[in-house]
Parts: sequence; C-alpha cells; structure tokens
Amino acid sequence: FIEIDAVHKSYGGNPVLRGISLDVEQHQVVTLIGASGSGKSTLLRCINALEDIDGGEIRVAGEVSSGRGTDVDRLRRDVGMVFQHFNLFPHMSVLRNVALAPMRVGGVPREEAEEQARALLARVGLADKADSLPDRLSGGQQQRVAIVRALATGPRALLLDEITSALDPELVAEVLAIVRELAEGGMTMLLATHEMGFAREVSSKVCFLHQGVLLEEGPPEQIFGEPQEERTRAFLRRIV
Ligand code: ATP
Ligand code: MG
Repeated sequence: FIEIDAVHKSYGGNPVLRGISLDVEQHQVVTLIGASGSGKSTLLRCINALEDIDGGEIRVAGEVSSGRGTDVDRLRRDVGMVFQHFNLFPHMSVLRNVALAPMRVGGVPREEAEEQARALLARVGLADKADSLPDRLSGGQQQRVAIVRALATGPRALLLDEITSALDPELVAEVLAIVRELAEGGMTMLLATHEMGFAREVSSKVCFLHQGVLLEEGPPEQIFGEPQEERTRAFLRRIV
C-alpha cells in the first residue's frame, strides 16, 4: 500500500536517507527501529509530504505521492500521522481538534463532523473530555486525542512517530492499547518506536535503519531473535 523506492534525502548536503526501499502492504504493521538520527522520522515525514525527497519515488495506493503534482490534501486524507509531541491545537477544544480536518479538508458539515468526532472520542474512552482544552488532559489522553484526530478523515494508513516517547511510563500502556486495537482491526500502519517489546508483539515486519540505510528487515522473531547483521545485534544489545 505504501511503496518506498530508493528514496534519498539530504539536509544541506548531509545525506539522511540513502536509498531506502520498503513496502508496507495493506493491513500490515511495519515498525522502524534504529538509533537516534538514523532517519526514522525523516522517512515518515517524506511519506506524508512534510519533506521533499531528493531521489527515488514514494507511492501510496498505487499513486506517486512524491514530487510535483502530488495532491497533498488527498495524500493526507489517505495517510494520517501522529507525532511524538501530540501537536494538538492548544486553543481549540478536544472536539474541535478532532472535527477540524473533516470539516476543512473533507468538506463535512460541522454537525456531522462533530457527531463523528464524539463517536471517535468515545471509542478511546474520552467522551467526557470533548469540551476540554488539550492542556487539561494528561499526556496519554492528549495522545489518544491525537490518534483519534488522525483517524477522523478516514485514512487508509497511519504513520506513528514515537508516539509514546514523551509520555510518563504509566501512560504508555493506554496509548499502545489503542495502537494494538487498530492493528487488530486491520489498520495499515508504519511506526517508529523505541518500545521493542511492543514492536515485537504488534509488527508484521521490523526494519532496522542505520545511518539512513535499511540494513535489515524481517519478521519480529527474526530481527529480535536471530538478527543477521552485526550492527542490528549491537543496537539491540545497547537498548535492551
Ligand atoms: P530519533 O530516534 O532521535 O527520533 P530519527 O531516526 O527519527 O531519530 P531523524 O529525525 O530522521 O532521525 O534525523 C535524521 C538525521 O537528519 C539527523 O542527523 C538529524 O540531525 C537530521 N535532520 C532531521 N531533520 C532535519 C532538518 N530539518 N534540518 C537538518 N537536519 C535534519
Ligand atoms: Mg525521530
């Protein structure tokens, strides 16, 4: 569903993605792991056209989604993204945060968008927070709102960038539970995470990035159980 083909990306002459090729099929959960600076966030941002790429091609649902002529609004309706720091609009109620994109981008009438937003909030146990401002919520609650906001446009895939890294340990579980539920429901997801236990449990495929290169990929049992590359082994030794 997401096809990444020999993608290159540099920042001011400094190569960050060096020929990455990777496919995420429908209903798969693919996890990116790798040291800080290996290019995980950059890759996710390129897929969502938050960054331009310098070479290669990205296709989403069979359509080229990189380069000029890309319909970015359509792309972002198809592929939702959630960030480490939630990025909720601080001056808008939780309900408005969730209803905004369907209204603005999807042309959904306000009443319908808000009704749908309430239903989504109820699904993650936040029905009673609809009228609160984001800063009244815990980090875990804010991140659940951010996930629901990404779901509100009815995306066919989600990109999740370290969505538990900014949370206190006791709040991580409630956010991972939602990702797990989405995975069970067949949502196509590409996620960057430092939660190796979770990656092992939820992933169809795990990809190890090293200095902008996809060094090794495979099912979680292989990557965590018997990694083939010395660098993968060294990375896993360091963090677990
Ligand atoms: P982390 O695990 O810390 O989130 P990451 O794997 O997500 O790391 P990226 O954020 O993709 O890594 O960064 C890859 C490299 O690109 C880093 O060396 C970083 O300094 C550089 N980089 C990222 N964004 C920019 C930018 N906007 N301008 C210049 N350099 C950047
Ligand atoms: Mg990152």
